[in-house]
Amino acid sequence: MTEVTGVLHGIPMPENQWVHTKRDLGVLEALVARSNLLGADRSLANQGGGNTSAKGVVADHVGREQRVLWVKGSGTDLASITDKGFAALRLDEILALRERDAVDDAAMVDYLLRCALAPNQPRPSIETLLHAFIPAAHIDHTHPDAIIALTSSPRGRELAEETFGEEAVWLDYERPGFEMSRHVADILDGNQDARAVLLEKHGLVTWGETSEESYRRTIDFVSRAANAIQAAGAGRFGLGGPKVAECGEQDAQLLLLGSLPALRGALLADTDGVILEVDRSPEAVAFAGSVNGSHVSQVGAPCPDHLINTKHKPLAIDFDSSTEGVVELAGSLRAGVAAYAEWYRGYYERNLTDESRPFPMDPAGPRVVLIPGIGIVTSGGDAARARTTRDLYHRAIAVEDAAEAIGGFGSLTEAEAFAIEYWPLERYKLAQAAPKGELAGRIAVVTG
Ligand SMILES: [Zn+2]
Repeated sequence: MTEVTGVLHGIPMPENQWVHTKRDLGVLEALVARSNLLGADRSLANQGGGNTSAKGVVADHVGREQRVLWVKGSGTDLASITDKGFAALRLDEILALRERDAVDDAAMVDYLLRCALAPNQPRPSIETLLHAFIPAAHIDHTHPDAIIALTSSPRGRELAEETFGEEAVWLDYERPGFEMSRHVADILDGNQDARAVLLEKHGLVTWGETSEESYRRTIDFVSRAANAIQAAGAGRFGLGGPKVAECGEQDAQLLLLGSLPALRGALLADTDGVILEVDRSPEAVAFAGSVNGSHVSQVGAPCPDHLINTKHKPLAIDFDSSTEGVVELAGSLRAGVAAYAEWYRGYYERNLTDESRPFPMDPAGPRVVLIPGIGIVTSGGDAARARTTRDLYHRAIAVEDAAEAIGGFGSLTEAEAFAIEYWPLERYKLAQAAPKGELAGRIAVVTG
């Protein structure tokens, strides 16, 4: 067993964490509890990713009974969401949309805001229509590593059919929104035995008549996918063995100390503040130094939800500490960032559409840098964003390793990735962030 296979060992089965309480929880209370459980396991729901809903009946402001959909607000995190993070919408008004031939994103957002039961609610999730059009009372939409690995491999569909049979339906990749939601609802109308939808290169949708049933189904489908991957990939490790020797802690620190100012300087070429986060976790070191990591990483991001934080792909530089030192590392980082930025500017120009044109290009440098033998460095406009990127990249490592073990990792095309990265609804999530502080992205030295 190599060092890489010792660290990256497939996708563990999720644990069922459901706790029975003495009293019955209300619909919204149970929805919050279930959401927090799903978000607590990042292999099920990444930071800010996935969304949950429940349906029920409540009296509106004039005392009329209304069928209501509670759905996660856009950009909130399942792990920490409270009841205030959910939007309550008039379900019958949303269902009327299903009869329309076409609804563009702006019209959908405007329509959903008008379905609000009360003013000043959070803006409902991008995937609200999916939750409305599936009739079940409780719905989970998650981005589990095991489901994404399965649906992003060339044998995924065959493995899914073997594993789930009629219990799951498959949807080829589509960007979320009105058409995708209606498409899922139409497929389910013709597949009454289905208990889940597998969204290619994206995630999972499950449902139940109670919160607990919906949660258990998520755990069940993800566990079965993890088992199927383990069986199909038995004896194979997606990323191969280590390509270069791993640096000891002291050497790694000296190399980083000497070269990170060059990386930060290169990233500052077109932005006025950037913070770096060094990831020396065993997974990051194993991935960056593996035989296949440098090319598998270039295939693309494993989930559309990562793109505004990780971009379509990382920068993977060549470095071997047995023959090179800090000067070579700094030089490779500078040259790597310049080449990456040139690619990114071309990517932006090539893929720009009328929809994305209002959004200026993000700083062109990489958000994730793989350094063989040392680990991964992520960047962001402030420390929180650099850390979010680091955490999301751990999902990429797990998915890419598992998918490669069962025949190969596939991602969105460049155009599909761009259509998410510069999608007005994703840009809205960025706009929600707190305004930049005076020192955001800068380094302060405090002397005694
Ligand atoms: Zn999603």
